[in-house]
Amino acid sequence: MSRILVTGGAGFLGSHLCERLLNAGHEVYCADNFCTGTKYNIQHLLNNTCFELIRHDVTLPLYLEVDEIYNLACPASPVHYQLDPVQTLKTSVEGAINMLGLAKRTKAKIFQASSSEVYGDPEVHPQPESYWGKVNPVCMRACYMEGKRCAETLFFSYYRQHGLQIKVARIFNTYGPRMHPNDGRVISNFIVQALKGDDITIYGTGQQTRSFCYIEDLIEGLICLMGTSTEFTGPINLGSPYEITIAHLAKRVLALTGSSSKLVFLPMPKDDPQQRQPEISQARRLLDWQPSVMLDHGLSQTITYFEHLLCMGNDSSQ
Ligand code: NAD
Ligand code: UDP
Ligand code: UDP
Repeated sequence: MSRILVTGGAGFLGSHLCERLLNAGHEVYCADNFCTGTKYNIQHLLNNTCFELIRHDVTLPLYLEVDEIYNLACPASPVHYQLDPVQTLKTSVEGAINMLGLAKRTKAKIFQASSSEVYGDPEVHPQPESYWGKVNPVCMRACYMEGKRCAETLFFSYYRQHGLQIKVARIFNTYGPRMHPNDGRVISNFIVQALKGDDITIYGTGQQTRSFCYIEDLIEGLICLMGTSTEFTGPINLGSPYEITIAHLAKRVLALTGSSSKLVFLPMPKDDPQQRQPEISQARRLLDWQPSVMLDHGLSQTITYFEHLLCMGNDSSQ
């Protein structure tokens, strides 16, 4: 049994990770400032004596005794992270410094949730870990992209200078139950619109692509990565290589919800990457990991979650 800190533990990924770690018999400390996460995501864990919720902003120091740290704190959707770009950068940079300082003092193994956004609007397709990316440092998404890039640099600097045990994953688009209904991400938007009978908002022509990984698969990938030998640091891509257009996604959501919502085409947001697909041969080889949940199955699970949420009248931020 290890003592494990999950920052951002009340968020979408974090809440599933806390649950997974508790099921494996660990003691879990969830630190979150609830800027995008909610107590609703973790309310089923609050009675577990091995679970502890700490209201904390990772831009401030945190003193705890831990064996492992998963640093997930950071708003993930473009709508959320662009609301307060300065706080987004502080969370990525100061949050990483504080969690690395904590790992250094306690000798804890530390995981960083990096992102496919470190590749920016990629010129190499699919994106292998060796690709350095194409990022405009002054674009609207830069607070997130450059924040994540700087966090990776901090992790590798602490690794080289202080010998920390680090694990860095570049996570690609992930979806599933407990996504925030109003965070503007495409899967939550399309499902909520379809269930309410509202228009499905396709930005641009809908020919831009993404590769969507179901939450259960992703969490398994994080656990596999944390279990690798000390020498392995990453960065490693974790995501689905099954690339689809946004227009195709809209059709699948309509088919699975049985909705008669209309498709409407709206202007493309600024700096929106045209295509994205992870190259996951490293994960297959080194972690023996690849996603196994089919898109339609994952979408159905997510639709059931949102149906329940809407039934309870809980479709705004809780
Ligand atoms: P989320 O917004 O649901 O969760 C982020 C959590 O971090 C929230 O609970 C939020 O309240 C908390 N948080 C934010 N700033 C904080 C701060 N300063 N101090 C403490 N807590 C803070 O997002 P998510 O989808 O669960 O993403 C989790 C992590 O995974 C993020 O680091 C994100 O960048 C990364 N990631 C996610 C995806 C994805 O598709 N969901 C893709 C790539 C990377
Ligand atoms: N820190 C923390 N918890 C700890 C140890 C450190 O939050 O248990 C923070 C502290 O704010 C510190 C930062 O981590 O500034 C970086 O720590 P490090 O030891 O690298 O640097 P220093 O203490 O010299 O600033
Ligand atoms: N998108 C869309 N309609 C929406 C929300 C998003 O067409 O209602 C598009 C968006 O422009 C982008 C893709 O879907 O091309 C994925 O967007 P999301 O915000 O989910 O993730 P990211 O852009 O960070 O990959």
